[in-house]
Amino acid sequence: MNALEIPLDLRLPKPTARKLAEHGFATVGELLDLAPRRYDHWGALTRMSSLREGQDVTILAEVISQRIIPNRSRKGVRLEVGLTDGTDVMTAIFFATNEYRLAPHLRQLVPGASVLFAGKVGSYRGALQLTHPQFESTEGQSEDEIRERQKRPIPIYPASAKLNSWTIARAVTMVLDALDDADVPDPVPSEVRSRHGLPTHARALRLLHYPADDTEHRVARAALAWQEAFVLQSGLVAAHVGASGERAPACEVVGNTVLAGLLDTLPFALTDSQEQALSEIRSDLEQTRPMQRLLQGDVGSGKTVVALAAMCQVIGAGHQAALLAPTEILAEQHAESLRGLLTPMAARGIDVQLRLLTGSSHAPVRREVDLALRSGDPLIVVGTHALLQDAVSFGDLGLVVVDEQHRFGVAQRDRLRRPSGEATDGEKLTGSRVPHQLVMTATPIPRTVAMTVFGDLDETRLIGLPPGRTPVETFLVDSANGVWMQRLWARAREEVDSGGRVYVVCPRIDEADSVADAEEDEPGILLGVDDVGARSGAAAHVAQGPPLANVQSVAEYLRTRSPLAGLGIHELHGRMTAVDKSRVMDDFAAGRAPVVVATTVVEVGVDVPDASMMVILDAQQFGLSQLHQLRGRVGRSQRPSVCMAVHRHELSDWSIKRLDAFVSTTDGFDLADEDLKLRREGDVLGADQSGRTSGLRFLSVQRDEAVIREAREEATVLVEADPTLRAHPDLAAAVRQRAGSDLVWMERS
Ligand code: ADP
Ligand code: MG
Repeated sequence: MNALEIPLDLRLPKPTARKLAEHGFATVGELLDLAPRRYDHWGALTRMSSLREGQDVTILAEVISQRIIPNRSRKGVRLEVGLTDGTDVMTAIFFATNEYRLAPHLRQLVPGASVLFAGKVGSYRGALQLTHPQFESTEGQSEDEIRERQKRPIPIYPASAKLNSWTIARAVTMVLDALDDADVPDPVPSEVRSRHGLPTHARALRLLHYPADDTEHRVARAALAWQEAFVLQSGLVAAHVGASGERAPACEVVGNTVLAGLLDTLPFALTDSQEQALSEIRSDLEQTRPMQRLLQGDVGSGKTVVALAAMCQVIGAGHQAALLAPTEILAEQHAESLRGLLTPMAARGIDVQLRLLTGSSHAPVRREVDLALRSGDPLIVVGTHALLQDAVSFGDLGLVVVDEQHRFGVAQRDRLRRPSGEATDGEKLTGSRVPHQLVMTATPIPRTVAMTVFGDLDETRLIGLPPGRTPVETFLVDSANGVWMQRLWARAREEVDSGGRVYVVCPRIDEADSVADAEEDEPGILLGVDDVGARSGAAAHVAQGPPLANVQSVAEYLRTRSPLAGLGIHELHGRMTAVDKSRVMDDFAAGRAPVVVATTVVEVGVDVPDASMMVILDAQQFGLSQLHQLRGRVGRSQRPSVCMAVHRHELSDWSIKRLDAFVSTTDGFDLADEDLKLRREGDVLGADQSGRTSGLRFLSVQRDEAVIREAREEATVLVEADPTLRAHPDLAAAVRQRAGSDLVWMERS
């Protein structure tokens, strides 16, 4: 019997079990998985100066006074209890119809007692106050119990008004008392555990919830982080070694006329780096072991042609290939540039079929593409997530190329690898056919994140840019400086007059737009643009300063009152239809409207060689990688280009650091490392699509690189010896469970 699967109502009084169930805890395991947020100590009182009005808090305070006061206006009495942390004071207040009802309070809240209080911090006449807080004293416990208890750290759980920390703590204690350690499954095999000096899972849970001292809960957390990394890596390694018997089609190079035709007709010579990437991919695709390769290359480094060569190899071998882009604009651009590269081949009689499929493709087009895909005939399909929808099934998918992977969570990634229509249940995959996979990103993924989320993706980097590029000069401009702002728009005019194009990027669409422009093809995934990483923080930021720049007002200003007045100025944002968006981009590329005021829809991949100036307004709102992506939209030809990051006068330290990093280098890899250092955990591993925070529980990609590596090595040894995990049922179960809760890495910039 798995002790963690025992329902809580077999272990706890019914009302407690019911209350916990309402909060999503139905089993012993679910409750024990709830980690304390922090540990307090009897004798170490909670600092009151850190409390803020409106917070739900659990604090440890010493009672200094108690006073019963009759109510003047109403019937009844109130009890005022003075509390201190040794420095500051506050009051706890209780109302009652008569004094007798307050007897338990009077008995327990006596001067000198240390008491845990939980409640919402309010204020009364400028002083902080807890009204009707719940409290927990040592009343009714024996001397020994008290002494024993006072030595221990007090776990403080994430609590709500309806379920306070010590109710959880009591339930946890009861559950632990009844727990049979032998029945707690242990995903980490005992040899591995002893090699790394880790306690058993059961022991780690006990140390986490009922530590004798501060060392114990630290040991527990470290062990649970290790275990988490190990489960994660075991799953990834198992998938990677093809343990499930996954096979992809082997695509021969010899005699591949399509691949040869492409390479013969390319309008430029490949860079060494591109050649190198291609040769790695070429040999991957010749194997039946599914390729899982990450192609990292800075913006403009020329990843597309590498992807096309890979797709041609697959097409030439008689299979289908799909290229997925995060936005419709980008999918269209890809389709167009691929067509451009395929045209000279057609002239030689090598006809490669290419289809575009996006969310706004009309039904007849969809049907036609769907039929073509089902037929299994070799063709390239370029599209957005629409491709991921069940409606599309591939007859013979040999390769999936995912562009700008940072926009895709692991769940989607895995979904694509499944042969169409098949369940994602790992067990059903035995022996099944899957496509090769090439993942491309211009936002370098820090090594630990890549390992954590993608496991063993083979990695290829495109170093440097194709010849003929000029580095983009970047400047910071304080928006409060009117002279500089004038100069900036004058400069924009000069760019246009000399044949250049100007992007102006804003964080908002219009004045009413309080949230960011949601990424068009990506319902559910937050793409925050605020600089603090937390939406509430951004809201506060905006409330204080002037409103954030928005596309509508900025376009209006530029058309009427700036040196750009009289020029064609278009707006571009995610609320426009795909048709309108592509018309805007056409006009922009052709110079009919040489200025585009846009949201971050221009962020990824958009390629207009004449674009020479990027103006980012309220640049403090954007993340580093997002800024870098935006800057990558210019500098795409020999024309010298500039990027102007316009920011508000008032900046947080954090914003200053980020903007400084942004101007200091144009190297995407350097920026990615800097970014990881500056980010907070929650920004790296985001919430899943249901809005539930998912991802890592104990593990930190910022702190635990060594742990991830160690766990990976152990997982590799174990999985290679036992690919189906037959000898490790606990681990297999944990891996399956983990696969169900999707870990999402997203670019929350
Ligand atoms: P990214 O890596 O950002 O996706 P692209 O693949 O869009 O970059 O390439 C940027 C531009 O560089 C495209 O216009 C492409 O045609 C061009 N390009 C790619 N490789 C080379 C090369 N070896 N020599 C010259 N131009 C190249
Ligand atoms: Mg690209």
